[in-house]
Amino acid sequence: MRMLWFCVGQRERLQAGGRPDFTMETLTLKPNVQLVNKGLICPYCGGRTTLSPGRKYTAKDGLVWVCEPCFAWTGVFKGTTVANGRVANKELREARWYVNYYFSPFWTEGHMTKWQAFKWLAGKLRIPQKDCRLGWLDLKQCNKVIEVSRKFLNH
Ligand SMILES: [Zn+2]
Repeated sequence: MRMLWFCVGQRERLQAGGRPDFTMETLTLKPNVQLVNKGLICPYCGGRTTLSPGRKYTAKDGLVWVCEPCFAWTGVFKGTTVANGRVANKELREARWYVNYYFSPFWTEGHMTKWQAFKWLAGKLRIPQKDCRLGWLDLKQCNKVIEVSRKFLNH
């Protein structure tokens, strides 16, 4: 009901030559963050990504979501078309490699359980645990993961 009233008000505002209400913009911004994290929108240019054969870009079979103009891509969860995170440019792909290299030992070498490791990491990144997914991290956050993990592991 409230939404309907809001849209009617918006149309009248625009017809009267007014500017669109700012809240209308914030309504569209939030879903975009989710679409970026799902690999469907490129975080660099804001364009839509496309599903392509992984062999075109990586040494691996399977599928990738790609933004051609930005040369950014990410893989999918095995057997699905679901992206494992946001598409990454060269810098972010490299950072992700180091994130895996320094952070996975937390549980593969038995320092703590995987669940504990992500809880610890969420605290270090100051983000909610539900948002603490490696595929969702940007470059700055990846660098932070590398830094705190190396410190923890004494590397
Ligand atoms: Zn792009």
